[in-house]
Amino acid sequence: MEAQIDRLFREHPCFSRAAAHWFGRLHLPVAPDCNIKCHYCTRLYDCANENRPGVTSRLLTPGEALQHVRRVLAVEPRIKVIGIAGPGDPLANRATLTTLRLVHEQFPDLIKCISTNGLLLSENLPALQEAGVKAVTVTVNAVSPVVGARIYGYVFYRDRVYRGRAGAELLWRAQYAGIRRAAEMGLAVKVNSVLIPGVNDEHLYQVAVAVRAAGAHLMNVIPLIPRGAFSSLLPPPPGQVARIRQKLTPIIDQMVHCRRCRADAAGMLEEGGA
Ligand code: SF4
Ligand code: SF4
Repeated sequence: MEAQIDRLFREHPCFSRAAAHWFGRLHLPVAPDCNIKCHYCTRLYDCANENRPGVTSRLLTPGEALQHVRRVLAVEPRIKVIGIAGPGDPLANRATLTTLRLVHEQFPDLIKCISTNGLLLSENLPALQEAGVKAVTVTVNAVSPVVGARIYGYVFYRDRVYRGRAGAELLWRAQYAGIRRAAEMGLAVKVNSVLIPGVNDEHLYQVAVAVRAAGAHLMNVIPLIPRGAFSSLLPPPPGQVARIRQKLTPIIDQMVHCRRCRADAAGMLEEGGA
C-alpha cells in the first residue's frame, strides 16, 4: 500500500511539483451531469477560450475518450495520468466507470484518477478500484453545515433534494466517509478547497484538520474564480492565498502548483497544457 502511494507521489503531476516537470495528465470530458449545486459553478461546453474547471470544448463518449487517449499518447508519451474531472461530477455519470474500465483494459500502467464532490464516493470505491483508479480528489469547501449552506444550493441524493444545512451536512458526511475509505483502501487522496472570501476563508483551518483526520494526504486551496451566484464576489488576493496555505501546511501538505485546469486539459502542467 505504501509503495502504491509512493509511486503516486513520484508520478502524478498534481500530487508532486517535481513530478509535474516530468509527467503530464489527460482529462477525459465524459461527465456532464452533477448531483449538487455549488454557487460558484458554471459549466460550459464548446468553449475553447476559457481556462478553468468545468469547461470543455466538447463532451466525449467512452469510445471517443479511448480513441482520444490513443491519439494524445502517440504525440505526448509523457502522459502518466488519465483523469476524469467533469465538466460535472464524474460519479453522477455512468460514462465515467465505463470509460475508466475501457482505458484501464488498454493502458493498465497509466494512473487513473477522478476528481469528485464526494457525494457518491464511498459506494463507488470498489468499482473505481477495479477500474484501476489509484488517486482521488475530493472537493471539500466546508465541514460546518452553517458555512456549507452558504456555498451549496442543493444536494440531490437518492431521489431527494436537500437544501441549506441539511444538504451541506449530508455532503460533508459523505465526503468524510469517502475520504476515509479511499485512504484505507490505499488510494492517494487530495482535497481541493475553493477559497471563497467572506464565506469560508476563516473556515479552511477546520476543513484542513477534518480532512487530515479523515486520511487525506494533500490539500489544494484554490482561489475562487467568481462565477454563477458568486460572480459579484472578488477573488482572494494572492497574499491571502499564500498566508492561508502557510497556516495550513503544518496540518496537511499543501499543493501550490495547481493550474485550475479545464475538464479537457491535456499535456504538462508546467507548460500550461490545456
Ligand atoms: Fe459544479 Fe463540480 Fe460543484 Fe457540480 S460539484 S456544481 S460540477 S463545481
Ligand atoms: Fe492538477 Fe490542479 Fe489541474 Fe486538477 S486543476 S489537474 S489538481 S493542476
